[in-house]
Amino acid sequence: MASLSDRLPQNQPGVYYVDSTCIDCDQCRVSAPDIFARDEDAGVSYVQRQPVSAEEIAQIEEVLAECATDSIGNDGV
Ligand code: SF4
Repeated sequence: MASLSDRLPQNQPGVYYVDSTCIDCDQCRVSAPDIFARDEDAGVSYVQRQPVSAEEIAQIEEVLAECATDSIGNDGV
């Protein structure tokens, strides 16, 4: 489970975030390229835009569940 105390500062404000345990595997960025981006210097993913539609929220929840290191969090639950 992602930890809010390890939330990366690169994330845009909002309930979804990536924490510092991200291993830069690329999966979230491939699955939801509008939502996740890569910090090239740090070698991590972060939430570049919070989801707005029900469809996007469903998509990010799916990506969250698939992250191998549980590095994606939802602060709203
Ligand atoms: S799927 Fe998880 S470990 Fe992989 S890049 Fe995204 S946040 Fe990082």
